[in-house]
Amino acid sequence: MGLCPLHDDRKPSFIVDPGKGLFYCYGCGRGGDVIRFAELYHEMRFPHAVALLRQWRGLAPLLHETTAFYGLQLHRHSEAVTYLHERGIRSPELIEYMRIGYAPGGCLRGRLMELGYPLATLRQSGLVTTGGYDAYVRRIVFPLEGNLYGRSISPSAPPHRFLPGTKGGLYCWEQARELVEVILVEGLFDYASLWQAGFRNVTCAMGTHLNGRQFRQLCDRPRTVYLAFDADANGSGQSAAQSLACRLREQGLNVRTVLLPDRHDPNSFFLQGGDAGQFRSLLESAQ
Ligand SMILES: [Zn+2]
Repeated sequence: MGLCPLHDDRKPSFIVDPGKGLFYCYGCGRGGDVIRFAELYHEMRFPHAVALLRQWRGLAPLLHETTAFYGLQLHRHSEAVTYLHERGIRSPELIEYMRIGYAPGGCLRGRLMELGYPLATLRQSGLVTTGGYDAYVRRIVFPLEGNLYGRSISPSAPPHRFLPGTKGGLYCWEQARELVEVILVEGLFDYASLWQAGFRNVTCAMGTHLNGRQFRQLCDRPRTVYLAFDADANGSGQSAAQSLACRLREQGLNVRTVLLPDRHDPNSFFLQGGDAGQFRSLLESAQ
């Protein structure tokens, strides 16, 4: 109970029930829920009050709506499904598990504004460009913790896209962290291929460079880490793996570097007909 913020109150007449999320003022007789309070306090109409409260809740609800919307788009655009098939992604369980979606472009902004998000919020999140267009166009999208990865299906566009800010922790770390042997891969398509082949002890750093949070996660208990980075022609994946292996060993981890056939990554390994048994042999022979 306290002074009413809605009028000039001398002695406390404003009461809040946090359990029910309701307020009432014995002085001015007004009451209701948090949206009603925002309407009265900011003198705005219902949709604006809802939008304001959404904004205060941060990026999470916005990403949630975006993921759901892009999830629906995936099945409406054959080019997206074709691209997934070309990358060897076929399992509906996997698509559901990773919440894979498709950003065709030109439709997210309208959808989110319909839901009451102001354009300024959408721009701030990076989902909409400063010019007012959808930032993700013709991209397969994967929701991350507090971010959104988009892989272009057009060869002419930059392949990878993230929202501004951190890429978050290791991918689906909750599912892998209890395990004593973990396979770390570079990309989400590598993750998807391994998952589809039955490997559940996989995680992904979305690149070869681990941020501080990802590094601490990997070192949070003694475990064996298999580094299954790309065997690029220029050797960049393997040299990144070597330097990461050193840093992880300094933390007391058992690290093994998986040698994939030349110019392959786990995604292309399975795409070219590799199977779970063959990949398991690569794990066994990892140095
Ligand atoms: Zn009052």
